Amino acid sequence: MSLNMRKSLTLLAGIAAITITASAAYADGEVNIYSSRHYDTDERLYSDFTEATGIKVNRIEGNINELIERAKAEGENSPADVFITTDAGRLFKLDQDELLSETSSDVLDAAVPANLRHPDGKWFGISQRARVIFYDKERVSEPPQTYADLADPKYKGQVCARSSSNIYMLSLMASQIANNGEEAAKSWASGLLANFAREPQGGDTDQLRGIVSGECDIAVGNTYYFARALRKEVKGLSGSTDAIGWVFPDQDGNGTHVNISGAGVTKYAPNRENAVKFLEYLTSESAQNYFAAGNDEYPVLEGVALSASVVQLGTFKADDLNLDELGKNQARAQEIYNEIGYK
Ligand code: FE
Repeated sequence: MSLNMRKSLTLLAGIAAITITASAAYADGEVNIYSSRHYDTDERLYSDFTEATGIKVNRIEGNINELIERAKAEGENSPADVFITTDAGRLFKLDQDELLSETSSDVLDAAVPANLRHPDGKWFGISQRARVIFYDKERVSEPPQTYADLADPKYKGQVCARSSSNIYMLSLMASQIANNGEEAAKSWASGLLANFAREPQGGDTDQLRGIVSGECDIAVGNTYYFARALRKEVKGLSGSTDAIGWVFPDQDGNGTHVNISGAGVTKYAPNRENAVKFLEYLTSESAQNYFAAGNDEYPVLEGVALSASVVQLGTFKADDLNLDELGKNQARAQEIYNEIGYK
């Protein structure tokens, strides 16, 4: 590593949980992870991997855009072996920025359903979440059953969602474009916008809190935010979950929109073999159990038990659209949101 490289690493260290040193980058028996996914429960994942394989895990956590800029600046000298992030749209962005490489692994191909991984192995889904409709059971007697229903004028002034620049809303829109075409997707988004109860704001938990406070009758959110509130104390939500109903949309159509947390091996991975081992470990039964139990997500590996709170949500049919399509339509999704004035 040159002095300049060392300098840039130091300069960027502000975003780092652990600074990866030059010697660590190329050391045997190590793997370097750049992760924008930070859940406390993920800690055990890393220590279990080390215990099982003897491979030490070095981690840098940060906002995905910071991590992308960092890896780009480091170029061929980047110590990063693996990127982990949430949402297929972000994985697509990593690939667009030429930060990922193709991985061919029978283990990964067997564990991860084809629609939840990149066609050429640039990234693999490691856990799933569904984007569903929540509603107040008292105030909404006929809840929307489809994403299309969210745009039905009969729900005028009732629907809450987060801002259009949020990756979850972009991916949902991208799935509408992929499944129904641009025109239909645009008119759907216009109808959704016309039904808003308030200016888009906050995160998914805030949409649910909006139902509790009475500001929203209907809200769009990811399953794990609600399941978490069933399992443990979430301020302004736990204790009121009985009032909230949920619908897995589009059960008679394409199925409910799902997204993933995912991981891929970097383009210049200095420890490529260890990186592939790490990815394979993430899709193993024991690691998949952590995703299910720790963050109330759906495992990608078939046969792994769901957490008790997720079991309560019931089973559903998921949209089997290849998630790479979400990334491809992301830019157009944002343009359409902008065109209709959804902020
Ligand atoms: Fe989230």
